[in-house]
Amino acid sequence: MKGLNISVLVKPVPDPGCYESIQIDPQTGILVREGLPNILNPADKHALEAALQLVEQHSGRVVMVSMAPPNALETVKEGLAMGADEAWLLSDRAFAGADTLATSRVLAAGIKKLGLCDLVLAGSESADGGTAHVPSQVGEILGISHLTNVTWLNIDTDANVRARMKMENGYIEVEGALPMVIGVSRGMNVPRYTSLPGILAAQDKPVKVLGLNNLGLDPGSVGLAGSPTQPGKLSRPELKRQGERLEGEPAELAKRIVAIMRSSGVLS
Ligand SMILES: Cc1cc2nc3c(=O)[nH]c(=O)nc-3n(C[C@H](O)[C@H](O)[C@H](O)COP(=O)(O)OP(=O)(O)OC[C@H]3O[C@@H](n4cnc5c(N)ncnc54)[C@H](O)[C@@H]3O)c2cc1C
Repeated sequence: MKGLNISVLVKPVPDPGCYESIQIDPQTGILVREGLPNILNPADKHALEAALQLVEQHSGRVVMVSMAPPNALETVKEGLAMGADEAWLLSDRAFAGADTLATSRVLAAGIKKLGLCDLVLAGSESADGGTAHVPSQVGEILGISHLTNVTWLNIDTDANVRARMKMENGYIEVEGALPMVIGVSRGMNVPRYTSLPGILAAQDKPVKVLGLNNLGLDPGSVGLAGSPTQPGKLSRPELKRQGERLEGEPAELAKRIVAIMRSSGVLS
């Protein structure tokens, strides 16, 4: 194997420090992101760390791919400062309103456009949407194997992959071959800090911005138009509590409590 070409999917997400300012548009049911400061999705930093370690081991190249509005460039640069070689921002007004499927179509088209890619790493799930759909959908669209919740990963010099996937009651170990899409769990590693030399080096690293026409996608397959999922009706739950104070002897109180529970339907 002559080095690894790795794409890392990175999503800018609202800074948790500003969660109190997050609002949902009552008409569309979609998160209002305008004006919110972004950070790199935390799980994606673990994916990037895994990519950087693999390239240190086997040599190769790490390109980050993100679908986001143009203002995401500053956030994506943090990944360049960590050590990624290049960033591709897939950005177009036509991509707005994308559900996970339309997002995955755009990301998969970006990866195809990148050319030969041995491995696609992503976070297992995002901190905001958190559906964990995207890595598997990208794998399906690209027609290659995919794993998620991966906590340990080894790739040997013959491009054989061994991985450990976290399950509800333990883990399973799987073997396969590249190319593959892998959703990295936060337990896999500790992302490196961005150093000052890293931040300075990031200024000169290539950043490409590609839109719908560059990716050759049908406008009906992206953004709101290409999204089969639509958020349902949103309403704020009305919480009402009723209290009643009972006084008396314990045995008598117990009988009255049982009677109240029966009359309110809690006990049959
Ligand atoms: C009808 C509808 C409209 C929507 N409109 C908008 C909108 O206008 N603007 C908006 O921002 N969101 C919108 N969303 C939310 C958007 O669909 C999700 O943010 C997106 O599909 C990713 O899903 P997720 O966060 O659940 O990712 P997950 O599947 O939980 O993410 C797993 C991993 O996939 C990768 N990944 C996920 N998304 C991206 C990305 N964009 N770029 C690179 N890597 C990624 C990351 O590595 C991430 O860790 C909309 C959703 C619906 C249903």
